[in-house]
Amino acid sequence: MAPSTTIPAFSHTPIDAIPGIAAKARATFRSQKTKPLEYRLTQLRKLWWGLKDYEAALVEACKLDLGKPSFETSTGEVMWCQNDIIFVCKNLKKWIADEKAPDIDVKHAMVNPRIRKEPLGTVLVIGAFNFPVQLSLGPFIGAIAAGNTAILKPSELSSNTAAVMQRIIEEYLDPSAYFCVQGAVPETTELLNQKWDKIFYTGSPGVGILIAKKAAETLTPVTLELGGKNPAIISRFADTRLAARRLAWGKVINSGQVCLSHNYILIDKEALPSFVNELSIALKEFFPNGAKSSPDYARIVNERHFHRIKKMLDETHGKILIGGTMDEKEKFIEPTVIQVDSLDDSLIKEESFGPLFPLLPVDDLDQAIRIANEVDSTPLAMYPFSQKKEDIDRLLNEITSGGASINDSFFHGSIPTLPFGGVGSSGQGSYRGKASFDTFTHHRSVTHTPSWLEKLVAIRYPPYGEKLSRY
Ligand code: NAD
Repeated sequence: MAPSTTIPAFSHTPIDAIPGIAAKARATFRSQKTKPLEYRLTQLRKLWWGLKDYEAALVEACKLDLGKPSFETSTGEVMWCQNDIIFVCKNLKKWIADEKAPDIDVKHAMVNPRIRKEPLGTVLVIGAFNFPVQLSLGPFIGAIAAGNTAILKPSELSSNTAAVMQRIIEEYLDPSAYFCVQGAVPETTELLNQKWDKIFYTGSPGVGILIAKKAAETLTPVTLELGGKNPAIISRFADTRLAARRLAWGKVINSGQVCLSHNYILIDKEALPSFVNELSIALKEFFPNGAKSSPDYARIVNERHFHRIKKMLDETHGKILIGGTMDEKEKFIEPTVIQVDSLDDSLIKEESFGPLFPLLPVDDLDQAIRIANEVDSTPLAMYPFSQKKEDIDRLLNEITSGGASINDSFFHGSIPTLPFGGVGSSGQGSYRGKASFDTFTHHRSVTHTPSWLEKLVAIRYPPYGEKLSRY
């Protein structure tokens, strides 16, 4: 197929069509069609080609939706998913094979105890807007690999990208097994009224609660990939130049619309002046002519989110040290560094999901640990910065998080073989690579008792009499 740059029109799926789509996906699952290894590999390879053929369209669509730089779309969306597909395809045969029960003795070995890897059934994947391809097709890859039928509901906020993904799914994948439903709250509500074998949701914690409640009515399992208030903590023994460059990158990418971005920075008072100076140098180096004129700086997804972030800046009692300019028409917000002096500041208390760097100076690590645990005791990520191992060990031991990158911004989230997920209020379950397969797989314990074993197993039957002495 020739590479396509055409972005199809986005349109909501008619609500009354949704039950039929779900029923069709369920009927296909029951037909056993999606279970053979070759079928799964074929679908995954086709998806790889769909991503390749539509890469230019996806780049264009992400630009329209988010002003996302081409580099970020190619690496963080398209190639990201393609690499995941390659990894999954290489390993799938091994993953789907039965596993012998571990550490069994001879008498148990006679019943061949093993774990069968079975697809869960028909699953729903709900995506978020900020990495519209990766966060939608990433879990979808796991659903296909595990042998499920699946329906994707991308975010309507990144509608152009959603439309291209629908085109890819409909042109490249088995139309009886994989579907894309487009829409916002009404369509998602109707989707949630259907019966699923798993719901995989990425998005805000508030909506995550709604999804979990609805799923609980039918005991449907959920994976929730949510947001949080991720701290970066800079000790007085940190390399402030490295910390500044790496944290600057972690906030300018996608204009800070990254679930893994640091939400606030707790910085030792001694390190503050040098860190602010280095941050200013790093931002100038990244955007020599300013972020606004750079092709490498994204925009805020819509007016609502633009005004939400603007309000946080308008209402802060903190002092803007770097940046602060905005352009409503372009939905542009400059990378902005603010020194705040109170935990009650909404820049600390709320997830900005934008290019803001609130800095809260602290006296020492003890205070930083206390504050981080008070603000959000289970964030999605944590970024400890220090050249001293004892500092890092303390921070890792005394503050929990879904994942952590030491002396960096979210490197852990880019390692394809590390499970990605939150903890507590930042989510439950994980995915990527093998974890994606496991997330959509039922690990079914099975034994097979041969008839010739009857003499041996008869010990379990009453009357028990003196049988205990023979154990
Ligand atoms: P969102 O919750 O607004 O939307 C996510 C999805 O839920 C969309 O598909 C949307 O259509 C749907 N939705 C919205 N309201 C709904 C409702 N009332 N009922 C049913 N469905 C509904 O989230 P967002 O704005 O797209 O993303 C930003 C949030 O997501 C942030 O909190 C961010 O931290 C989090 N996030 C988490 C991850 C992660 O991997 N942990 C990744 C990206 C974003």
